[in-house]
Amino acid sequence: MNQHIHCIVSDCHYYSTGNKCSANEIVVVSDQFGASQPDSVDASMASELTPGQASTCMETCCKTFVHKNSDKINADGNYKL
Ligand code: SF4
Repeated sequence: MNQHIHCIVSDCHYYSTGNKCSANEIVVVSDQFGASQPDSVDASMASELTPGQASTCMETCCKTFVHKNSDKINADGNYKL
């Protein structure tokens, strides 16, 4: 799969020039799931997570987001490509 992830959340650690995501992988989850899980639950364990549902895009979020100034940048097991 040749995947391109475009993103305009510019204060994310993984945001890169040209509105691109530079994370090696991401996971998108429901807002409800994202709010209930620690930062360590992220893309590396995506295949083990139980799928959920959302009614609109407003109910989903990028679980891989971490603020560029956060001290938890390494908590998710992801890295910049
Ligand atoms: S990790 Fe998520 S929020 Fe951060 S740049 Fe990538 S897609 Fe955007």
